[in-house]
Amino acid sequence: MGLITKAPRGTLDKLPGEIHKYQHIEGLAREISGRYGYREIRTPVFEHTELFKRSVGDTTDIVQKEMYTFDDKKGRSLTLKPEGTASAARAAIESGLINDALPLKLCYITNCYRYEAPQSGRYREFTQFGAEVYGANTPTCDVELIALAYDLFTRLRIPDERYKIEINSIGCPECRAEYQKALREYYVGFADKLCGDCHERLNRNPMRLLDCKVPNCGQFKENAPTILDYNCDPCREFFAGFKSGLDSLDIPYTVNARIVRGLDYYTNTVFEFVAKDNGLVFGAGGRYNGLIKELGGNATAASGFALGIERIISLPEAVFPPPETPDIYIAGLGEAAGSLALKLVQGLRGAGVWAECDIVGRSVKAQMRYADKIGARFSVVIGDNEVESKTAVVKNMQTKETREVALDSFNLMKAILPFE
Ligand code: ATP
Ligand code: MG
Repeated sequence: MGLITKAPRGTLDKLPGEIHKYQHIEGLAREISGRYGYREIRTPVFEHTELFKRSVGDTTDIVQKEMYTFDDKKGRSLTLKPEGTASAARAAIESGLINDALPLKLCYITNCYRYEAPQSGRYREFTQFGAEVYGANTPTCDVELIALAYDLFTRLRIPDERYKIEINSIGCPECRAEYQKALREYYVGFADKLCGDCHERLNRNPMRLLDCKVPNCGQFKENAPTILDYNCDPCREFFAGFKSGLDSLDIPYTVNARIVRGLDYYTNTVFEFVAKDNGLVFGAGGRYNGLIKELGGNATAASGFALGIERIISLPEAVFPPPETPDIYIAGLGEAAGSLALKLVQGLRGAGVWAECDIVGRSVKAQMRYADKIGARFSVVIGDNEVESKTAVVKNMQTKETREVALDSFNLMKAILPFE
């Protein structure tokens, strides 16, 4: 197939047969976020490259390998959003919202771009639903974020038993420094066995060692020191408060001391949503109390999560309502009937019914074949007789039941109502 008829590698066309799943998740995400007081924010598809270097971090895979970065015509370096947190934080600072009524709660549904090796669940363009809170430095805030995501999964009918909410605490910059030291000391012993990236991590950011996806590096994780052993008293207390908050809402979780976010501005809470079947991580988040200051705002606590919508859709357990099909097809034979069909369809559409008629100039037989193909629930055929008598037969396409009705939009609507 030529380039013109082939989508770029790692992208996904969301076709009409699948789109109802995206609409369903996005609708639920917006509805639930609204009830928790998270207001939607839409930020540009591209930002200054520097924003992501600062916020996502120079030592991360995203910044080092995965960004779509380009110079615009004036030579400014711009980058397609690889994630939503940085842009939301930037906009909150720039607009002054971060200095207004706190906590500020924002949510977004946004396309993200990462140059990664495409595979199942991993695309170069994908969609995140994210929620962020600014100005609340409490375990309760983190509990609320988890509750919001849990609500969404519950509404999607994903049973608790099929995924894990894994949580951890990576402490504060002070207690984490001790941990980084211990981790470096541990890994130095295996330095010659680590991959090139991990060598780099050992020097610049040892916590990222735990994130390496190379199987040979993974084996050393098992006996590595555990961050929870290094949490200072206030950080332990914060984590205990987080856990008891989840307990009080009956939200199931597992502590996994290997989850890390290896940057200085991440603090305390981190978590991941993981499918039990295949280990797919379909969402992640945590607290990042240092970020707003790092980006030039006043020091403000912050916490949030991002879910991968394509990954949620790929979960076999997620339940979606069936795609909608037309309520009624009105076929017309001849000019007078065709014009009446168009009028009736217009009236029905105005009343909220999905109605279709011929716009191609087909024979009645071909019109009915089309009605069948597009899954119309009901059909009507109008010819000169029906135009004359102002009545017609409505047919239920599934049960083949028929009934005669007066030919006006109101009576047609009554005849096809689901409870009739
Ligand atoms: P992974 O470990 O799978 O690479 P990540 O740590 O890079 O994920 P985050 O930066 O935490 O992912 O992004 C949050 C969520 O966005 C992920 O949990 C996932 O659901 C989704 N996501 C991230 N990268 C991709 C991608 N390339 N394709 C599809 N979804 C993605
Ligand atoms: Mg990644």
